[in-house]
Amino acid sequence: MIVVFIGPPGAGKGTQAARFARSLGVPHIASGDLLRAASAQNTPLGREAQTYMEAGHLVPDELTLTIVEQRLAQPDAAISAVLDGFPRTLQQARRLDEVLARDGWGQVDAAVYIEAPRTVVLERMNARRRADETAEVQAKRYDVYERDTAPLVAYYQERGVLATIDGVRAVETVTRDIAAALAARELPLTATTAMHE
Ligand code: AMP
Repeated sequence: MIVVFIGPPGAGKGTQAARFARSLGVPHIASGDLLRAASAQNTPLGREAQTYMEAGHLVPDELTLTIVEQRLAQPDAAISAVLDGFPRTLQQARRLDEVLARDGWGQVDAAVYIEAPRTVVLERMNARRRADETAEVQAKRYDVYERDTAPLVAYYQERGVLATIDGVRAVETVTRDIAAALAARELPLTATTAMHE
């Protein structure tokens, strides 16, 4: 079972993806974490990724795909995974479909789109700004999201797997909504009662 989480930065996608993965006992694979780990390990790929991340740009697809595919090839991800922050471009989404088909995983079972307007997410990002970030970089991240990632909403809608969730509410409420939306889909693996921690 593959579930992907998409949404603007600051919409709460990481928190919700982690909760959902934990409730099902499946790996939570966040491309941002993988890229930051590569960068902390100072690998050649990590060093290259870091320059893009610092500027608020997307890391080039080839580099991101290499790192995410390595993670998906680990045995714990062989049956189910929750993907957070990946795919982030149409090319990545197409490539993910190819990899899933090639490896006999089928297809993306659900795409959870956590919706939140620009003003709300910029305010949230501003409140939790890290030392190495500026307001300009945060605004850039949002613009990049709109341009490169927002088209994924239509991509997954066309495939009939999109669940749109209003992210401008309490964390618990959003978590419950996601559980309910996915329970209705009859995914190969759902344990929605476990969502209420
Ligand atoms: P995140 O932790 O998801 O906010 O990601 C932090 C940064 O990592 C982003 O601003 C991008 O620079 C980079 N990144 C994460 N995931 C991807 C992806 N799927 N494609 C390209 N860049 C990514």
